Amino acid sequence: NHFSQFSISADIQRALAELSYTKPTDVQQAVIPSALLKKDLIVKSQTGSGKTASFAIPLVEMTDWDENKPQALVLTPTRELAAQVKEDITNIGRFKRTKATAVYGKSPFARQKLELKQKTHIVVGTPGRVLDHIEKETLDVNKIRFLVIDEADEMLNMGFIEQVSAIIERLPAERVTMLFSATFPPDIARLSEKYMNVPERIEV
Ligand code: AMP
Repeated sequence: NHFSQFSISADIQRALAELSYTKPTDVQQAVIPSALLKKDLIVKSQTGSGKTASFAIPLVEMTDWDENKPQALVLTPTRELAAQVKEDITNIGRFKRTKATAVYGKSPFARQKLELKQKTHIVVGTPGRVLDHIEKETLDVNKIRFLVIDEADEMLNMGFIEQVSAIIERLPAERVTMLFSATFPPDIARLSEKYMNVPERIEV
């Protein structure tokens, strides 16, 4: 029961050791191997379970450093969570030099636009601002291969589900989608049926 059991690079193993992540949590144990196999996943999980690293580790592993356009998009319900997820990705990707950018509302669009012009492997953001950047073509989604929908039920509660659908409609169809939620109300079930490809269900 150690991170070395997963097919993840030495760079990431070293970053995890520095973060004092010695043992994978239950959700990490279940999610990481399936994510590395590029399966669509529906994960029932709570905050505090280590769910962020369960998707951040595979994303950092699977993104290609040499590609300048964003390869992964993570949608979160709040600005605070977007900033936290960006931070976690940056820490896990420290030695791989993975670049993550957070985009969210109530923060200057122009600065985010400049950041998105630089090399960015993983974009993390709230639905309204992400959609805004896609529509204004300041976020290029043509190379997105991984989508994470984090706290999907919260996104629904906050009235973001239409925006989430509109974003997904604009992404390349050939991608891996991972959906995390504590509960599965009908609208979330419908979203997963519509946009995911025979997802594996993980409940820990
Ligand atoms: P999360 O559920 O993603 O919000 O993570 C909850 C907390 O657990 C965060 O402070 C993480 O930094 C920490 N954490 C995540 N994975 C591990 C791990 N394998 N070992 C120790 N701490 C962890």
